[in-house]
Amino acid sequence: MAEKPLETMLRPESLDTFIGQTRLKQNLAVFIEAAKRRKGALDHVLFAGPPGLGKTTLALIIGRELGVEVHTTSGPAIDHRGVLAGLLTQLEERHVLFIDEIHRLNPAVEEYLYPAMEDLVIDVPTGSGAYSQTLRLPLKPFTLIGATTRSGLLTSPLRDRFGIVERLEHYDTDDMAEIVRRSSAILGVPIDEAGAEEIGRRSRGTPRIANRLLRRVRDFAEVQEDGQIDRQIAERSLSALDIDAAGLDPLDRNLLRTIIERHGGGPVGIDSLATALHEERDTLENEVEPFLIKEAFIQRTPRGRMATPRAYEHLGIARTRKKSGGGQGQLF
Ligand code: ADP
Repeated sequence: MAEKPLETMLRPESLDTFIGQTRLKQNLAVFIEAAKRRKGALDHVLFAGPPGLGKTTLALIIGRELGVEVHTTSGPAIDHRGVLAGLLTQLEERHVLFIDEIHRLNPAVEEYLYPAMEDLVIDVPTGSGAYSQTLRLPLKPFTLIGATTRSGLLTSPLRDRFGIVERLEHYDTDDMAEIVRRSSAILGVPIDEAGAEEIGRRSRGTPRIANRLLRRVRDFAEVQEDGQIDRQIAERSLSALDIDAAGLDPLDRNLLRTIIERHGGGPVGIDSLATALHEERDTLENEVEPFLIKEAFIQRTPRGRMATPRAYEHLGIARTRKKSGGGQGQLF
């Protein structure tokens, strides 16, 4: 089966089967219950956090728990006001409009969203030239759910219009192992405790990565062994995929090496790193750095990124003390 339908198949369908993020789930359960009792629309929700942590999954779960439809789109797909007007006017009472990558809405569209979110109205232009007018259209009460990998890029007028703002964090190793066990059960892949832990531990705290690695390890287990996943086959397969014991992939390690070997450990600006690694700046900032920072391989400073002692140790590179005066000598 292609990877995309598999991802859909592995999505938890209720808050009860959504693993981890306990505080966030408890809050959502209260807000959903309150909206249901009032028979009103749930307040607008913003989910922030790195890709693959479950923002889309939660938006779909909210729709299911509220018993309403979820209309899905993304910031870049709404390229002019007309598209947004079309989406908003087709929403039935209490429906959910999910906008992924909401920080990428263009400013004209974003402004158009403000009165819709706040006062449930949109202004639609009619006629043309001297006869042009705007028609104020009422909308049915609805819930906007926005997802963003970069909450810092959201304008404050937009952020302020969300009544519920939640940040998703990387998952801890217990949650990751449980996610791997759950996905294995759905896929019908036999796996033991240690095998699930190993895959979970090397998946950068990210369910989407865990599900992808599980499928690859399954391939190795089926072709090279009897199909059963244990720690040994998990370790062997992940090493073959060039994912090391800390879960770092070649791009992570290249980034650390570039900071250490080309820039003496940093600080180095993100644009220089993107050029050296032939990667988009966005990819580095959204997908690569958050985990490296969380795991203390790099530090973000006002002057750029710096490699930490852990990064040197992990790559087996000896640290040389820098001359004082460079401002970096104190780190080690
Ligand atoms: P995002 O929208 O944040 O990029 P998704 O909601 O698309 O992430 O999640 C990616 C995949 O990870 C989904 O297919 C889902 O199977 C899985 N997933 C995410 N969060 C969880 C979780 N808490 N428990 C189990 N699986 C999860």
